[in-house]
Amino acid sequence: MSSEGELWRVWRDAALRPDVAERLRGLLNEIDHRVSESGFACQQSGRCCKFESFGHRLYMTGLEVAWFRLLVGSPGIRAEVPGSEGKTIGLAVLDPERDGCPYQVEGQCGVHRDRPFACRVFFCQAGSDAWQAEVYESFQLGMKRLHEELGLPYRYMEWRRGLADAGAEGL
Ligand code: SF4
Repeated sequence: MSSEGELWRVWRDAALRPDVAERLRGLLNEIDHRVSESGFACQQSGRCCKFESFGHRLYMTGLEVAWFRLLVGSPGIRAEVPGSEGKTIGLAVLDPERDGCPYQVEGQCGVHRDRPFACRVFFCQAGSDAWQAEVYESFQLGMKRLHEELGLPYRYMEWRRGLADAGAEGL
């Protein structure tokens, strides 16, 4: 693969395929199922989405970033505020100076339904580390298998960096 632009086009073209979207949604559904069976629960404090102050980073594959951008658009979109019965609010634009995720709105996730894998499996709850590591590993295996089947380049990247790079390439 010769250039960053080419990489993003390959991931976007794959993410546009209904069969690939179905596989990705299937992986997320499987994770949600494992979370619901685990007994761990997110208290939705919103702290872990403020990456700098929490001391935490999200990483995901280029394919996931491309798919996510197709699903929810750029960080300038209007998002639904969770639990607000349809209230929408404009999301902040991607700002490298901002503490945390550009999709966090009023302390909550503005893209809850479509939030990435790494957001679904991270819990600040004590005692969840070993469970998280195991689930993370099994998801990564599923993602690697999908990339191999599709002949796609497999790259992990920091969430905001990936969003910015995808945006710079017109995704
Ligand atoms: S996508 Fe949602 S859950 Fe994930 S870091 Fe951003 S605000 Fe938090």
